[in-house]
Amino acid sequence: MGGMGKAGIVLNILLGIVVVGGASVGTYIYTNLSATLAETRAELTGTQERAQGLSDELKETKDYIARLETALSAERNKNGVFENQISKLTGTVGVLEKLSKTDPELLTKYSKVFFLNENYSPPALSPISEEYLYQKDRILTLHKSVEPYLENMLSAAKKDDIDLLVISAYRSFGTQTALKNSYKVTYGSGANAFSADQGYSEHQLGTTVDLTTAQVGATFSGFDTTDAYDWLTENAWRYGFVLSYPKGNTYYQYEPWHWRFVGKDLARQLHRDEKNFYDLDQREIDEYLAEIFD
Ligand SMILES: [Zn+2]
Repeated sequence: MGGMGKAGIVLNILLGIVVVGGASVGTYIYTNLSATLAETRAELTGTQERAQGLSDELKETKDYIARLETALSAERNKNGVFENQISKLTGTVGVLEKLSKTDPELLTKYSKVFFLNENYSPPALSPISEEYLYQKDRILTLHKSVEPYLENMLSAAKKDDIDLLVISAYRSFGTQTALKNSYKVTYGSGANAFSADQGYSEHQLGTTVDLTTAQVGATFSGFDTTDAYDWLTENAWRYGFVLSYPKGNTYYQYEPWHWRFVGKDLARQLHRDEKNFYDLDQREIDEYLAEIFD
């Protein structure tokens, strides 16, 4: 080691110090890192535990919500059933209430055999607008609830350039008797042949009108060959009116001018089935009574 000299020795010593010192520093750093790692691990474990706790809580909350939803839907179903029952009951009550307020005479058949009681009169009457009257100086009335349906029909006809006028509407038993007597005075006993015998019953209801045109007038002669009659045949049902005594009926003489209000439902049904009011059983007809003014 002769070549090494002093400087070499010092360097070695220094190197030794650096190596030993380095090792100490390394140990120090390692110890610290271990501690940090342990802490971090502990923290992580804590965090994992908390996460597990939260996850459990979340699951519980979800279960709770699911139970609430089940309960809510069960409650809703119950309410639905209840609502259905209520609406059914209300419907039944509604129909019964309507029926109790609706005059069964309104849809009763009157024929050669069945007559309306002479004391019968509608509960309330409304005048028909003058523009639809054949004789402007007369006042014609109709059942208060039926009159608007007539005006709707006549105004629709007018829009289609159809000339339809009312020549007769509500007639009391007394009026009818007087009318018939006046025919008898003029025509003798033959009056029965054309003056209404049973048809008057429908006029006494206040639901029935005799229609004509300015040209055809009061004799009704040829009324069933007019555009007005064709229009009625095609459209009257839409407004709840039907021809009571069509051609070939066995209930009364043919009266193409005599239209009775039976309600839109029944009129539509008759139109669809190509049937006449008087062809139906009374029991079948009565099913439409509650809805006559709907
Ligand atoms: Zn008539």
